[in-house]
Amino acid sequence: MFSPINAEDFLKSYKENNPGEDVGSLREVLANVVEAKKNGAVCNQCKRPIWAVGSAVVGWDGCFTCITGEADNSKDCEIDGVVATCSYEARKFGVRSAMSIKECHQF
Ligand SMILES: [Zn+2]
Repeated sequence: MFSPINAEDFLKSYKENNPGEDVGSLREVLANVVEAKKNGAVCNQCKRPIWAVGSAVVGWDGCFTCITGEADNSKDCEIDGVVATCSYEARKFGVRSAMSIKECHQF
């Protein structure tokens, strides 16, 4: 399961790891992708919910597995706004908090 991260904290750590990158345009792309995810955007390869952080960095709408080729997302993060939406819905439906992002988006 993803760890939630604040968008500004993510951009800050991205800049530290990629000093030559233009974080201003990434901030804009990230805001658009987060908005798209809230509106139900899906991966353009497998139709699962997109991974906002990864989609913003690679520049196409993809889920964690299609972007990274890995199944375990526990070492990665997702923007808190779109993770929080999910856990709020999960609580509303009385779903266990251990449920993964992918599963809870099926509601
Ligand atoms: Zn996918």
